[in-house]
Amino acid sequence: SCGICVVKCPFDALEIINLPQELDEEPVHRYGENAFALYGLPAPQDGKVTGILGPNGIGKTTAVRILADEITPNLGDPNAEPDWDAVIDEYRGTELQNYLEELQADEVAVARKPQYVDKIPNQFDGNTRQLLESTDERGVVDELVDRLSIRPVVDQSIDTLSGGELQRVALAATLARDADFYFLDEITPYLDIGQRVTAARLIRELAEEGDRSMLVVEHDLAVLDLLADSLNVAYGEPGAFGVITPPKSTRQGVNQYLSGYLENENMRIRPEAIEFERHAPRSSYQGETLASYPDLTMSYGEDEFTLDVEAGEIRENEVLGVVGPNGIGKSTFAKLLAGRIEATEGEMDTRLDISYKPQYVDIDQPMRVDAFLASITDQFGSSYWETEIANPLQLGRIMEQNLTDLSGGERQRVAIAACLSKDADLYLLDEPSAHLDVEQRVLATRAIRRYTENHDATAMVIDHDIYMIDLLSDRLMVFDGEPAVRGETSPPVGMREGMNQFLSNLDITFRRDQRTSRPRINKPGSQLDREQKNAGEYYYAP
Ligand code: ADP
Ligand code: ADP
Repeated sequence: SCGICVVKCPFDALEIINLPQELDEEPVHRYGENAFALYGLPAPQDGKVTGILGPNGIGKTTAVRILADEITPNLGDPNAEPDWDAVIDEYRGTELQNYLEELQADEVAVARKPQYVDKIPNQFDGNTRQLLESTDERGVVDELVDRLSIRPVVDQSIDTLSGGELQRVALAATLARDADFYFLDEITPYLDIGQRVTAARLIRELAEEGDRSMLVVEHDLAVLDLLADSLNVAYGEPGAFGVITPPKSTRQGVNQYLSGYLENENMRIRPEAIEFERHAPRSSYQGETLASYPDLTMSYGEDEFTLDVEAGEIRENEVLGVVGPNGIGKSTFAKLLAGRIEATEGEMDTRLDISYKPQYVDIDQPMRVDAFLASITDQFGSSYWETEIANPLQLGRIMEQNLTDLSGGERQRVAIAACLSKDADLYLLDEPSAHLDVEQRVLATRAIRRYTENHDATAMVIDHDIYMIDLLSDRLMVFDGEPAVRGETSPPVGMREGMNQFLSNLDITFRRDQRTSRPRINKPGSQLDREQKNAGEYYYAP
């Protein structure tokens, strides 16, 4: 028995009682009496990319502030005088000893990319070129500008850039520094898959060719796979304590994290595994038609962007995944459906009532979360609303907070809830995965699917996280073309056909991890990659 129940345990409470508890040993750092405590530190390694995988609020930033010499760790005693000698003594004989000694001797230069790039315009006044020149210690900005396709916006003021542009500018500004240790806190939000792969490649090159150490926090598992040489898993109780494990191989780290059980540490971090079902591609779902649209062309003026849409239909009660690079016309298509813009050629005969969650969530108002959501739906607080929306999105704990104080992941979940709470013909969610950690992505996916199934609702989800799109969608709509110049899309197709279209455009194939069935990107040119390309099976390979 687990000690809670006197009689034989009716629940699997053993599982619950084994959830992470604060460790017996002394933490590396504790912010104050009874305040957050951090156990363990990742060890930066020259020439390597080290990943950190774990939920938000678990101490990743605290660890990095220690490694950047912004905090001298107090070894668990908040009243202790800061003392690096004591810390180095503690880490003598470990992988960290060298690094900490160099840090103490002021021999480590650190460059950091912040998590929330949306905030950069508040901190920097000027254009892209000025920002990049201010950090160009290695004289590489021109090369980075080209490889990250920033050229079209170099003369643009920072406060006019889109989130995806800001993300790439922030990446270039960080990688242009001449540092020993680079810390990148989430690189994928707002980037499309091609841009994600480019970012991963640049980070790997700087590690390998420049012999620098890179530490990356990332929630997109496909990208983490591609990027990291080793992985530190972070677990604990967000806000209370966090543990950073010693490094594992990337594959083992991801698999153990998903399974909820860390083998080397003998630690269960979650009652249940996160599963990637190897579902057969859903045979195309045969619902009634919600809306059909004719051939449409949309041009924004003479030499500006043009989108060509081939006639198609959206079915009732389906989740339609929408994929394609940034700047290819996905939002333009959504605006056509909503009647917010008129096509240059062709005409929509139905006009859908659309509830829309934009890519860049902007809900900063001096208002509490509960008041904000209550202003959107009179279902707020009903048991039905709690079960279908608030609980799956884990809003309970943040209801009383102000919108302006929310973290990126919290803001995203409130915005998803707000979108689903409205009455509409079509729920359109643009990049719901941004800033969500792995578990929150799984929960959000479940919430959106459940909501559409239980309410005969129809949803369109635009996202670049291939796992999320796969778990969510019944059919796919694929956009292709030349970003910012022209885009085209054919009618929605079944998942297998759609994934093959989309991934062959990108020249990327996926395989399934043998143990967890999670999709992993094949190394370009590997035997599997070549075999799958020859067979035309980019994703659902046997
Ligand atoms: P992560 O980067 O994993 O999201 P952080 O390291 O930013 O996590 O924060 C971990 C915890 O430490 C949070 O609960 C945060 O509120 C708390 N924390 C961060 N900085 C301070 C501080 N200066 N004083 C007290 N608590 C802090
Ligand atoms: P996506 O959603 O696929 O990222 P969008 O539909 O937002 O793409 O944009 C496609 C292209 O159209 C981009 O190059 C964008 O800059 C351009 N564009 C979008 N809205 C306008 C507008 N109102 N006027 C001129 N160009 C626009």
